Amino acid sequence: MNYNLKIIYASHEFKADYERKTKMAEIDVDFKDKLSSQKHPEFEYNVWGEFAPPEKLGIHGDNVAVDFDICIADGVCIEVCPEEVFEWAEYAGNPASDKKAAPVNQDRCIECLACETDCPVVAIKIFEL
Ligand code: SF4
Repeated sequence: MNYNLKIIYASHEFKADYERKTKMAEIDVDFKDKLSSQKHPEFEYNVWGEFAPPEKLGIHGDNVAVDFDICIADGVCIEVCPEEVFEWAEYAGNPASDKKAAPVNQDRCIECLACETDCPVVAIKIFEL
């Protein structure tokens, strides 16, 4: 493959990867009516939907809910949250990203909505308690 073709191929690969990461649906705000839940094996919150790491991770949390299959580990939620609700959790091998913003301190949420508003892939939904 000549140099120009390699560049074109690489740019197509980059575009395809970007589209794969961003084309996913936003978090389904009605997920609690549609999915069953189970306690996370490590954290004090529920996981909704299929939890089969690393491929399928489901939606994590209750009043602060993060769709781990959409999360691309942008990290803006961790940056903007004034209550340190989120911590990184490693999920190497997940198609969207190798780490996720886990709402491990969801009980601290003051419903400011900063994370929900700023998440670039709309992976977060905040529920009033
Ligand atoms: S709504 Fe505000 S306090 Fe609650 S998790 Fe999001 S950024 Fe943190």
